[in-house]
Amino acid sequence: MPTSAQSAFSFTEGSHIPDSLGRTGVISTPHGQINTPCFVVVGTAATVKGVLPRDIEALGAQAVLANAYHLYLQPGADIVDEAGGVGQFMGWSGPTFTDSGGFQVLSQGAGFKKVLAMSTAGLASDEVIAPGKDRLAQVDDDGVSFRSFRDGSAHRFTPEVSMQIQHQLGADIIFAFDECTTLMNTREYQERSLDRTQTWALRCLSEHRRLTDDRTGKPYQGLFGVVQGAQFEDLRRRGAKDLAQADVDTQVFDGFGIGGALEKENLGTICRWVNEELPDDKPRHLLGISEPEDLFAAIEQGIDTFDCVNPSRTARNGRAYTTQGWYNVDTLPSKRSSAPLEDGCDCYTCENFSRAYLHHLTRAKELLVYTLMTIHNERFHVRLVDQIRESIDGGFFYDFREDFLGRYRR
Ligand SMILES: [Zn+2]
Repeated sequence: MPTSAQSAFSFTEGSHIPDSLGRTGVISTPHGQINTPCFVVVGTAATVKGVLPRDIEALGAQAVLANAYHLYLQPGADIVDEAGGVGQFMGWSGPTFTDSGGFQVLSQGAGFKKVLAMSTAGLASDEVIAPGKDRLAQVDDDGVSFRSFRDGSAHRFTPEVSMQIQHQLGADIIFAFDECTTLMNTREYQERSLDRTQTWALRCLSEHRRLTDDRTGKPYQGLFGVVQGAQFEDLRRRGAKDLAQADVDTQVFDGFGIGGALEKENLGTICRWVNEELPDDKPRHLLGISEPEDLFAAIEQGIDTFDCVNPSRTARNGRAYTTQGWYNVDTLPSKRSSAPLEDGCDCYTCENFSRAYLHHLTRAKELLVYTLMTIHNERFHVRLVDQIRESIDGGFFYDFREDFLGRYRR
């Protein structure tokens, strides 16, 4: 039985893709509704880098995801709490998400993919780290100790700490603290890690209930459990089933995330395994995916929301997404082109600026190029997922997919 506070958060299914798990729906949050499938724009440090919130709204974004790890380190979750939560703090009135910090903590040291120190007893060599490098994160059964990428200071996240931070950040949708593994880990390690993630999930439910009861007057935050299990069908199904049934003092998960290691070839398959086990009446989020073929594959298998930093990150390096594939505006063909980034695009950038101008801004390292390129790339992804949603409602998902992917070259 949901509590009265929990009823402030809900999901309603809409149309279905025939013979698949894919569907449209509506997530209702205290800060508004999200029509699904939906591409959630990432604002890591409570800002979509270089773009005003009013422009994020204008390009059609329904929700923004910020990062608990980054906001914990700077400015501190208490400061965001005092401001009234992350939406209020950043001037965004719509729905918000925060991730748990688990992925960032465990992948800290990007560039050294193995700078992820696991507890070592009885484990194989695939858990090694680069020799001579300081370990940035140490996982144990209770939580993760890590050093700040900003100043090297020591910190510790546990499931309870992650819940406390995410309650202070106040997003409408928050995620349970999980251990994110890699495809390089052994099967044995994946099993142990999944057990750990499931235990942490129950601790998150308990702490979420306590904080919800304590912080009276705050809008209800929907808590999503995160399904791990890497590329193993039995682990993914078990992880999903356990989270779906998890109940601590009547506190259950309001939705689910699919996290961890996913190979492109089996992304849709893994989503299917998980979503076959999850209840239909709760939303499902896929963490960190944005390539068009991946969006189609995941939506067909029942994913409702996505987030990914890729559209804005690549925009800042000059990459422009189009329905024909992506290209770099930094290169010679754009130097004298009066065409927009993409013919027919309805974004502010394409309606007002040429490739030649964007090429110039890139070469001159002008700050405006970050803004203009990000607006275009975010609009591309938001519009694509909106179009997929319309194709499901209209009963032509498979035709739309064939048409779109037929033109899109990676
Ligand atoms: Zn555009």
